[in-house]
Amino acid sequence: MAAAVGLAVVAGAALGLYQLSRARCFALGLAPICRVATSRPEVALTFDDGPTADGLAAILPELERRQAHATFFLIGADVAKHPAMVATLLAAGQEVGDHSFSHVRMVGRSARFYDQEIERTQAALKAAGAEARFFRPPYGKKLMGLPLAVKRHGLAMIIWDVEDPATTDPRAFADEIVRQAHPGAIILVHAMYPTNRTARAALPMILDGLTAKGLRIVTVGDLIADAR
Ligand SMILES: [Zn+2]
Repeated sequence: MAAAVGLAVVAGAALGLYQLSRARCFALGLAPICRVATSRPEVALTFDDGPTADGLAAILPELERRQAHATFFLIGADVAKHPAMVATLLAAGQEVGDHSFSHVRMVGRSARFYDQEIERTQAALKAAGAEARFFRPPYGKKLMGLPLAVKRHGLAMIIWDVEDPATTDPRAFADEIVRQAHPGAIILVHAMYPTNRTARAALPMILDGLTAKGLRIVTVGDLIADAR
């Protein structure tokens, strides 16, 4: 009986931790930023992964046409391969963030592993002439260990509160993001790979829809700075 109760407690705790690990805006040991409290009509638009040449070709002209600035969370291994793409982003006034080096799930690893993921990415960004103040965990996985490493390296963990909707219709994709957007929102869009064709097709509609809703599109850094 006692053993059964004990097992139930352990199972309950494990389930609780599992659910916490899936909760978007929670991390043990630090408060991730999922949105910014502000009444200013601004949203941060963020793109994850890459950089890739065709991703930048799909995204940058659309941003530049509207003088919009976004934050790109880049994978360290890809930054090391394509430092010139980082320079292109910076020259266009875009912001870059750290999205880990290897883009594996950041769960159940050692403190040393988390440190190396951050340090190698920071080094690759630095070699490309960039500096990142923000970290976004791959797949949003961040329960334990990783938040402490992010804190140790003086970075802020940036999550999101609006993300790519599950539809293959670009119009519906854009409309849903614009519908959910609000002052202080951090919006996540995946558009860096050819498989992200819906998001790429939706991007002009997202940008125009946000503007039509009266929301200015800024980087995460500007969203946070403007709210102060
Ligand atoms: Zn990612």
